Amino acid sequence: MAADADRLGLATVTVDGALGLDETEELLAERLGPVIDAWPRRMDGPGRTRARRAENAVVNRQIAAYVADAGIAQFPFRYACECAEPGCGRQVELTPDGYRRAGGALAH
Ligand SMILES: [Zn+2]
Repeated sequence: MAADADRLGLATVTVDGALGLDETEELLAERLGPVIDAWPRRMDGPGRTRARRAENAVVNRQIAAYVADAGIAQFPFRYACECAEPGCGRQVELTPDGYRRAGGALAH
C-alpha cells in the first residue's frame, strides 16, 4: 500500500511501533496535517447547487437511457434538492420530463 501511495505522490507515514502514542500522534500531525489542511472545504451555497444539478443531470440521462432501452414509460425519481442550503438532504420526486419542465429540483 505504501508503495502505491508513494507512486501516486501521496503522503505516507510508517507506524511500526517504535514510537510511543504521543510521538506517533505528533508525527502524524506533522506529516499529514498540511495535506489535510489543503483538502477542499465544505462547498458554499452556489457550489452545492452546481454539484447537485450536475448529479441530477447525470441521473436524468441514466433514466432516459434506461426508459428508452426498456421501452417503458417514465417513472418518478427522487432528485436531490438543488437549493444552496448547506446540509439540505431533501428530495423532490419528479419524472425526468417533470424535472426538465421545472428547470431543476427545489424542495422548498
Ligand atoms: Zn434544499
